Amino acid sequence: MKRKPLIAGNWKMNTSTDEAVSLVKEMLAELEKSTNVEVTLCPPFISLIPLYDLVSLSSISLGAQNMHYEEKGAFTGEISALMLKPFCKYVIIGHSERRQLFGETNEIINKKLQKALEVGITPILCLGETLEHRNSGCAEKMIINQLRASLGNIRDISSMVIAYEPIWAIGTGINAGVNEVSLIMDAIRRAISDFYGQPSAERLRLLYGGSVNSHNAIDYLSSGTIDGALVGGASLKAQQFTGIVKQASQVGC
Ligand code: PEP
Repeated sequence: MKRKPLIAGNWKMNTSTDEAVSLVKEMLAELEKSTNVEVTLCPPFISLIPLYDLVSLSSISLGAQNMHYEEKGAFTGEISALMLKPFCKYVIIGHSERRQLFGETNEIINKKLQKALEVGITPILCLGETLEHRNSGCAEKMIINQLRASLGNIRDISSMVIAYEPIWAIGTGINAGVNEVSLIMDAIRRAISDFYGQPSAERLRLLYGGSVNSHNAIDYLSSGTIDGALVGGASLKAQQFTGIVKQASQVGC
């Protein structure tokens, strides 16, 4: 089954609203040429509204980098899926920085996934192993455990996206080898097939993230096992990001 490639830019805690608008203006015309690739940008929360005005007539969508699992209430500093829904098609859930720096457990991630699905925002669930786990040869086992625990008793994942992001490859300039990534992707797809059946597994888009740039993206995107990329650092540079999208366009359906 041919799956439309998805390239998602995770801007993390970077860009003022003015910088965010300038960056999108710089990228927009180029991004729109790649009609066979889906592109989503995940800026800081405060830039979602100005960027929404900018991209609303284009094919580019927006995503959030995080959300709370409650809909409203006394949760100072948090933002809910209901608040994001008018602006966001996607939400990144369980990024390793959230897990490591903000104590997000698989249980919390599961609640966030459930709420995002309930509200109708597509979650991009992030999974990734530490260097220690990779070096001890148990990356695959760790990823599948994380997958199982994050999904919990969620019954329908038809609108979910999964991003495999080895922690040691994020922001380090050390990207994982394509063969290594493909083995993990195959394991994730097999597990999804076991949990949810083959049609769900075949529909599911699996992204790779970890030091993807316009030089190495094509290796992943042409592998046949990887359906797109979650891009951090390179998504803040117009030429890099549009270069990645152009490469995806070469292999897109
Ligand atoms: C990320 O933070 O999701 C990421 C993949 O970052 P980078 O591309 O900078 O490694």
